[in-house]
Amino acid sequence: MINVKDLEFTYPGNNEKTIKGLSFSIARGEVFGFLGPSGAGKSTTQKIIIGILKNYKGQVSVFDNELSGMGPDYYERVGVAFEFPNLYTKFTAMENLDYFKAMYKGETAEPESLLELVGLMKDARTRVSDYSKGMKMRLNLCRALLNNPDILFLDEPTSGLDPVNAKKVREIILSKKEEGKTVFMTTHNMYVADEICDRVAFIVDGKLSLIDSPRELKLKNGKKVVKIEYRFQDEIRTSEFEVDGLGENTQFQEIVKNNCIETIHSQEATLEDVFIRTTGRKLL
Ligand code: ADP
Repeated sequence: MINVKDLEFTYPGNNEKTIKGLSFSIARGEVFGFLGPSGAGKSTTQKIIIGILKNYKGQVSVFDNELSGMGPDYYERVGVAFEFPNLYTKFTAMENLDYFKAMYKGETAEPESLLELVGLMKDARTRVSDYSKGMKMRLNLCRALLNNPDILFLDEPTSGLDPVNAKKVREIILSKKEEGKTVFMTTHNMYVADEICDRVAFIVDGKLSLIDSPRELKLKNGKKVVKIEYRFQDEIRTSEFEVDGLGENTQFQEIVKNNCIETIHSQEATLEDVFIRTTGRKLL
């Protein structure tokens, strides 16, 4: 669905490139995540692919067409929800959706059903100026879904949402995948990436370091360790052992045999561990 090759981009007036040679592909029906800290270049890449930022170097094709040759019909087929909602604040939620709905030539979803989906139906007649950040985020998602797009571009889709609504948004994203839609999202939240992305790409300073499924990333790069807390005389001691070879590890066996165990946990690597190990950077 999306093919990016050797993408480079410099903001006008900047000396340094913000995007420094990205190459990746996103298949139809895939939920693909850009995982990286703030300022890594996630939104910039999305803005290039949706045609907001021009004058990039490299190749970007979407729906098998080079981006530069794409006309306004492109926007009939994609949906975009950015982190900072772009809504008319003096209009109610319903008025906003009716307004944006009228811009599409093709078939559109009913605003009521979308508001229902994100739990905003009871606030449908409230002016957006009275909405919280989280409500605007959800309304913005409705806006992105209006034209039933084949590709959804989501920038930090769960940012600013309480746990219940964040879960709702994750479920909506997965339901779109079930319908065969493609989702390209950015996040600096490894839990979101881990839970809903088929593949994630690590991005730092405008460069990609790894692309794989969260499971593979954790398996290939993680360290399998068991952490054990035990009482030794009057103190609590902690030890870590590799999971591999635990059955033959005499030191581990001695501890288990001779001490009162307080806690014992395997320590699977998290996506953030892998991120830090691979890039040398933290996600926040
Ligand atoms: P992310 O989405 O990963 O947080 P961005 O793509 O927003 O990162 O930003 C990447 C870098 O580009 C940052 O250093 C940011 O300051 C810079 N940047 C973003 N927008 C502009 C702009 N309009 N003009 C100049 N620099 C920008």
